[in-house]
This record gives sequence, structure tokens and C-alpha cells, in this order.
Amino acid sequence: MRNSSELYPNNVDISNCDKEPIHIIGKSQSHGLILSVYFESLEVIQSGSNAKDILGISSDNILGRPVQEIVGDSFAEKLAEKLQQQTSLLPEELEINGKKFIVLAHRSEENLILDIEPLGELHDPYLFQRQLTKVLNNLKVQENAPELCREVARLTREFFDYDRVMIYRFDEEWNGEVIAEEKKEELESWLGLHYPASDIPAQSRKLFLKHPIRIIADVNYDPVSISPELSPVTGKPLDLSRSQLRGVSPIHIEYLQNMNVGASLTAAIIVNGKLWGLIACHHYSAKFINYYERESYRFLTEMFSSELSLIETNKFLKKTDKTNKLRNELIVKMKEANTIPDALIEASPVFTELLSCSGGAIIWEEETIMIGKKVPAKASIKKLVEELIRKQEEDMFFTKNLGSFIKLDESVSKLISGLLSIRVTENKYLVWFRPELVQVVDWGGNPEKKVTYNEAKKRLSPRKSFEKWSQKLTGISESWKGYELSAAKGLREDISHIIVEKQRNEIHELNERLLDANKELELFGYGMSHDMKAPLRGIKGYAEILQEDYASNLNKEGQYLINTILGLTGRLENLIDDILSFSKMNSRELRAQKISVNTIISEIIELFNVKVNYPRTEIMVEEDMPFIKGDKKMIFQIWSNLMNNALKYSAKIEAPQIKIGSEKVNGKNVFFIADNGIGIASEYHDKIFESFSRLAGDGYKGTGIGLAIVKRIIEKHEGEIWVESEPGKGAKFNFYLN
Ligand code: ADP
Repeated sequence: MRNSSELYPNNVDISNCDKEPIHIIGKSQSHGLILSVYFESLEVIQSGSNAKDILGISSDNILGRPVQEIVGDSFAEKLAEKLQQQTSLLPEELEINGKKFIVLAHRSEENLILDIEPLGELHDPYLFQRQLTKVLNNLKVQENAPELCREVARLTREFFDYDRVMIYRFDEEWNGEVIAEEKKEELESWLGLHYPASDIPAQSRKLFLKHPIRIIADVNYDPVSISPELSPVTGKPLDLSRSQLRGVSPIHIEYLQNMNVGASLTAAIIVNGKLWGLIACHHYSAKFINYYERESYRFLTEMFSSELSLIETNKFLKKTDKTNKLRNELIVKMKEANTIPDALIEASPVFTELLSCSGGAIIWEEETIMIGKKVPAKASIKKLVEELIRKQEEDMFFTKNLGSFIKLDESVSKLISGLLSIRVTENKYLVWFRPELVQVVDWGGNPEKKVTYNEAKKRLSPRKSFEKWSQKLTGISESWKGYELSAAKGLREDISHIIVEKQRNEIHELNERLLDANKELELFGYGMSHDMKAPLRGIKGYAEILQEDYASNLNKEGQYLINTILGLTGRLENLIDDILSFSKMNSRELRAQKISVNTIISEIIELFNVKVNYPRTEIMVEEDMPFIKGDKKMIFQIWSNLMNNALKYSAKIEAPQIKIGSEKVNGKNVFFIADNGIGIASEYHDKIFESFSRLAGDGYKGTGIGLAIVKRIIEKHEGEIWVESEPGKGAKFNFYLN
């Protein structure tokens, strides 16, 4: 099933012509013939119904015939060759039935489209070259766009002798204005007239980018249908976007007929890849411009477009130079000021100076500040701005007719007809306002009456009258120019950079302060623990003396208290030792070397005197574990802390077991120590690595620092440690070093 949108509609009138798929119109102009050839077999599969008029061969005799029978062997051979090499197809002059033609071929999907048109009168190439050189020299000396346009209009008329030549420029909304004109004296001037965007709909503008020069040789021609309507190869209508002979939209024909135009030539002016305007030539009777003339003209318009680009770019650069300077001053201010809004609105330059405006506003989080004496009272603007924020989907929003977005009193509208707003971040905006610019626009016909009902054709038609119609524009400001938009965008980026830089500096400062605080804390901890050791030794010594020499003088309770003191001093000693080694760990330099994990484990088992202290515990150590690279003392500490925990937290189980080994994971040697002890609930799997965090109750001695030390050592070696465990099912600690 084909999608109906792929077909040219039966009824096109002014109400749907903006969606008219003109590239598949299925008709050609009558001064030439369109043939469609299947590119593989080179057989004619579609033909214009005017084959007899043009070539003297009836269409029925053409369909299904090999193309060489129509265009001759030599051209057909060239076509086949070019198609095979996939090189571009060049125009070819031909004589058929005593008439001279030029054949222009191009590929469109599987179809090869041949435009066969009369060769026309050939000019002396030398004369033409001389004329062109003169034209190009003239173009070069023009420094501003209006003069350049006048010159091009003059040259075009000199070249082709159309009754009227206009240069038509689009505004941001695609309305057009005639900015240069050359005409037959007796004709009324259209210079300065405006035409609504609907006169040249979007899809026509798009086609101009693909096919920049187009003629209508006879506005009053009978459209020639191409049959069959659908290509037998693709099953779709022919895409005639690039055909020189493509038929014209009936609405456009009617539009030209309403103007009494008999023939036209339209050339696209493309500046920096965008349709800038058109050169529109009107003739009041039929007029054909041959292929070679059109090609030279294409060359000329390209030169014109690039000259225009140059002029426009220079203008843009000059303007940007000014705004860049101002932006730089604002950047310096923003860097120095306490807050960004202060820098943007206090002391010159303020941000509103960046663009020509009557004032502005800054919305910074909850606050809205108005700038400039000519902007309306704050409350009403606040409301307006709320509306604006709600509607603003992009980072930039601008209009020269704010009244078309929100309802404004006339008095307010005069002050803020135009608005440009940039969003810096979610709730931070800068706004510029522009006052009303009362202007009178002369339209070529009343643009509001773009539709009339055509009784004969039973459809809506383009307007009939093109008489000058003056309109006083109110509530409209001067439009926002390209360089102004880019300056505002630039400022937005500047502010974002500065916000990020300020945040980075703040984080950096905070980090420094944190590091200092940390260092102080470590020194304090180290000093404290160190200082506490001496009195603790004293307490312990006296308590031991008391126990050894005076225990017999004490009653049972006294003896119990001495034992408690001794027990507590022992715990305090362990705690101080742990804190000391924890603080030392930070300042210690890494001395990395290759170490045998098996050797370390054996040393630890011996040191802990496991056989005597944990006689029931079975320890299984994997043989020949990989070597590990790191600081030997630190790695010893990792294993002894982990081993200590594994022994301790499994000691009360019936048959304690500890397994030590390694696994290769993602190319890394991950070591593990697993026990079958009391285990750890999952919510504590991270917490146990923090200092002083203990889960096990009084039944298990400890200080809560062991794992914090292990983690810190591992991080120093750029490694990771994690635990897998469930309560009652033992714990497996895994780690790797880098
Ligand atoms: P502690 O000196 O308390 O053992 P650690 O920092 O070494 O301090 O361990 C913190 C806590 O993690 C312990 O109090 C204990 O609750 C839990 N823990 C550590 N290793 C194990 C293990 N192998 N099995 C069960 N619990 C463990």
C-alpha cells in the first residue's frame, strides 16, 4: 500500500497550496518534452503527451522503445557509459526531425529523466564571455548590498530584456520586499512593495535551493501530462524536483495571470546556504530563455550571491566586533563581582547595552529586576515574564511582536513591542525590550485578502488585486538582527562559563579547607594518641603492681575491680595503637614491590599462633597465588586485619573454616578471604569500612578501625574492596590493587 501523501492531490487551492507536493506534479511545461527512461534497460517508460508537437513522434510510439531510437545511437551510448561510470550526465545537442534540441538528463531513483527542450538561438560565445567579464567587474566594485542589487537588476534586464526585473529580499518571517527594480518605463513601479510569505510557500523555497534557476516560458501554456502517471519501475510519481521542464503549480500560474504576467524567470539568491532572496523577472508575453543563457545566468547569480555573502559577512563581523568588546568587559566584571547579577546590572557597561533596546530585565531565581527607565512597572512585567518563561522552550526566544504572544495594553505594547530573552539556566533569564517602531508597509495588494473565490474554477484563488496597499504597523518593533542574536547567545555562553568557573573555584576552596581540616584532625589524633600512651602505661604499671603485691590485702570486689582496670587499659592500648597506625597511613609513602601473598599468609598464621589460639579453625590457602604489587608493610596489614576478623568472627561456630585464594576478574587478580562465621547484614556492607563502626557486640573484642585501615591502604593502591555476606552464612572479603 502506498501512502496517499506520496501522490499529487486532485484539488489544490489557496487553502492547501502550502502543502502542495509540487515536485511530483506529474505535468510538464509545453515548450519541451519530459521522457522517463528505466536506467537499466534504457527503455522509455513514461512520456509527456506533447511528444508529437516537440519531436514529431506520437507518445504511443515512444513508450517501450529503446531510447536510442529516439535520441540516436551516439547519445544513447554516452548515456549508458556515464551511467555505468556513475559520472554526471552532460547536456547534449541533438537534431530530431530537422529541429535542434538540447537534452538534459539526470537520475531520479531508478528513472532517468530526460528534459528535451528547444536549443534556441545561440549567441556568439566570445561576445557573451566579454559581456560576462564586464558584469563581474561591475559586481566587484559594489560595496553595499542595495547598490549591488540595483546593478544586478540592471544587468539582468540588459541581458534578457524582461519587462520587469526585481530583486526580492526575504525577512525573518519570509515576507518579501522588492529592494531593487529595473523595468520598462511605462510600467508602474513595485519598488519597496512587500509581499506576504504565503506568496512563495515553504516547499517552493525549498525547491529553489535544489534548482536555483527556473523559467516559465509561457504562463498561459496548457499543462502537459506525463503518462503513465506512476513510474512502472518504482510505482511512484516521478520526482521532478530537478527537471527544468517541471510543470508549474496551478495556484502560482493563477497568481501570475492575475498580475498579467506572460513569462517569468526566477533565480535564487543563496547566501551562506540560506535562501536570501530571489531575482524575479516578469515579461508580459511569452518568453523563452535557452539552456546556455540560463547556465550563464546561473554563474552570474552565483557570483552575485557570493559577493553578497561577503558584504553581509563583513557587516556581521563589524557589528560583532563591537558586541565582543562589550562582552569582554562584562566577563571581567562578572569575574570580579560577588554575584553575576551585580556585575550585569551595576555600573557601566550593563548587559542591556549589548543590544539596541529600551531596557531589559534580569530574572535570577526568585527575583526579577527591571533595568531602564522606559520599561513598564514591575508587577505587570513580572506577570509577562512568567508567561514568557512558560512558553520559552528553547534557550533563546525573540519576537518583534510580543502582542501576538500575550495580551498587552496599548500603552505597555508601545514600550515593549519587541522582546529577546535568553535562558542562562533553569530559572535565570536575561531579557531585552524594544519599543514600538511605527512604520508604514506598502504591500503589493492587501495581504489579508490573499484569497478570493474563483467562480469559474470553483475554488479558492490567490488575490486578484496587486495594487499598492499601505498598512500602518503598530505594536511591532525593529527586528532582531542575526548579529544581535549571536551576541545574546554569546553572552549566554559567557555567563554559563563563569557560573561553572565560580562553582569550580568554590569546590576547590572547599576541598582545600577540607584537606586542611583533615590534616589537622590527623595530627590531633596522632598527638592525642601519642600523649595518652605515657599516662596509660603509668596506670597499667600501677594496676599491675597493685595486683601482684597487694591483691591479698583486697577483698574479692577489690580484686575484681583491679582486673577490670587491667582489662580496660589493655583495650585502650589497642585502640590507641589502631588510631596511631590509621593516622600514619595517610602520611606514609608507598614503597611498591612484588610480594608473594602465600609467604605473607604463612607469616601471619605463625604470628597469630593460630594452632594454639584457634585450634578448631581449619584454614585452607590456595597454593601459588599470584604475586601482588604494593607496599609490603601495608599489604601485611591488610591481610593481618582481614585474617584477624575472619578468625575472630568465626571462632564461636561449630567447625570454623577459612578459605584464602584468588580469582581472575576482568584481567585483574582479585584476592579473597572467606569464613563461615556470623556474617554481616547487607545494609552494613559499606558501613563496616568506616572508622569506629562495629556491629558485633561485646562478645567480640575490637576497636572498629581495622577495616577502615584496610580500605584506606587499598585506596592508596588505587584498588577496591567489597564484601559478600549474609548473616549466619559467613563473609567473603574481596580486594584487588592496581
Ligand atoms: P573490629 O575491630 O570491630 O573488628 P573492623 O573495622 O575490623 O573492626 O570491622 C568492623 C566491623 O565489621 C566489625 O565490628 C564486625 O561487626 C564486622 N566484621 C568485620 N569482619 C567480619 C567478618 N569476617 N565476619 C563478620 N563480621 C565482620
